[in-house]
Amino acid sequence: MNIEEAEKLGIEQATKESLTTIKVKSDLNAILATVAKPIISKTGILNVPYLCKDNIVTLGTKTTAASKILENFESPYEATVVRRLREAGAVLIGKTNLDEFAMGSSTENSAYGVTKNPVDETRVPGGSSGGSAAAVASGMVPFALGSDTGGSIRQPASFCGVVGLMPTYGRVSRYGLIAMASSLDRIGPITTCVKDAARVLQIIAGYDEHDSTTVDIEVPDYVSVLDGDIKGLKIGVPKEYFGEGVNETIVQVVRLGIEMLEKQGAVVREISLPNSKYALATYYIIQPSEVSANLARYDGIRYGISAKDANNLWEVYDKSRAQGFGVEVKRRIMLGTYTLSAGFRDAYYDKAQRVRTLIKQDFDKAFEQVDVIISPTTPTVAFKIGERVQDPLSMYRADLLTAPASLAGLPAISVPGGEVEGLPVGLQIMGRQFDEKTILRVAYAYEQVR
Ligand code: GLN
Repeated sequence: MNIEEAEKLGIEQATKESLTTIKVKSDLNAILATVAKPIISKTGILNVPYLCKDNIVTLGTKTTAASKILENFESPYEATVVRRLREAGAVLIGKTNLDEFAMGSSTENSAYGVTKNPVDETRVPGGSSGGSAAAVASGMVPFALGSDTGGSIRQPASFCGVVGLMPTYGRVSRYGLIAMASSLDRIGPITTCVKDAARVLQIIAGYDEHDSTTVDIEVPDYVSVLDGDIKGLKIGVPKEYFGEGVNETIVQVVRLGIEMLEKQGAVVREISLPNSKYALATYYIIQPSEVSANLARYDGIRYGISAKDANNLWEVYDKSRAQGFGVEVKRRIMLGTYTLSAGFRDAYYDKAQRVRTLIKQDFDKAFEQVDVIISPTTPTVAFKIGERVQDPLSMYRADLLTAPASLAGLPAISVPGGEVEGLPVGLQIMGRQFDEKTILRVAYAYEQVR
């Protein structure tokens, strides 16, 4: 069900069908965190049901971030994106599962169960927005919100065969997104088609006085630019994203996609982003560092659960955190505490920040020559449930091709690009800062010819 189909049904009927689909597909367990009571108003420009990742705060439902530490937590306020969608007429019908606090690439790190990939239920849906991607892919709702820090919208979209858009850092308010790595976190839509991504972005984009990182610039009309015309548009193909560590059949599928765009009149040229090879290492220093700072607030007092067996204040902190956080979250907090610690901060965190700048500068240089950059979204197709849980490094490698745009603050979209052994492959289109318009245009043109 896409947005247009849902609109034709009318909001009551579309909501009913969504709730029925949710019931029928409940064998794909743990897509949902909670079902919300639909509040239908019918006013507005987007009167359709939707689901929201459970690390974005909403009123009238719990918000758990898939963590035990926030079990039963109810937010006293709602996120700006949720408010804007509500005001546009969209009806929130539930919250979706994720990796705890959005750390992971498989939605296996949730305290509330593993989400399965609707394309193949023995496989992961990707993560951390796996619940949102699986929900859209299985037809529960026309769209869902996700969050992306290092790939968490694009990678699950790619694994489930749907569209996932990470807007530019600063384009969409993060007010009400549970902070994980604040210099990287973003909110964006997961949809069945490019036009729907444009429509949702239209509503959630723009300056917000509650988020000082949003930028007060014009939000263009994203839908009217979707005309399929890409004549003369310059596409950069970064050679480093098609080599080591990337599945060869995926490479072929994506190259074929680029050829299709060339036939539509786009100009394709090979480019180099030499420092992108450091993106994973850089990301996995900066991200845990920010995690260790952001997650310090879960002290067993202010939010969520508090250890019952504590005898003094220190034990409240200690035991609540020990009992409340899962393994991966603890690993990141420890890593981040180390990389920020006296004596190591220069060697790790500060150095990673400098490499981050180099990665960004490569993109700046490339965008002097090209309008968009295209690569595979992920180095592999969806892997089997359980396959990587014991091996954090192999889990981290899922971010190989998505982490660079995250570090550089650029917008990027993943669109379905074909299949490898019956499993979806995503094509990633990256753009200049605040130029979501062009990546949407290219994504749409590709969707039309594929
Ligand atoms: N897989 C990455 C991580 O675990 C990205 C997560 C995300 O984008 N939220 O940190």
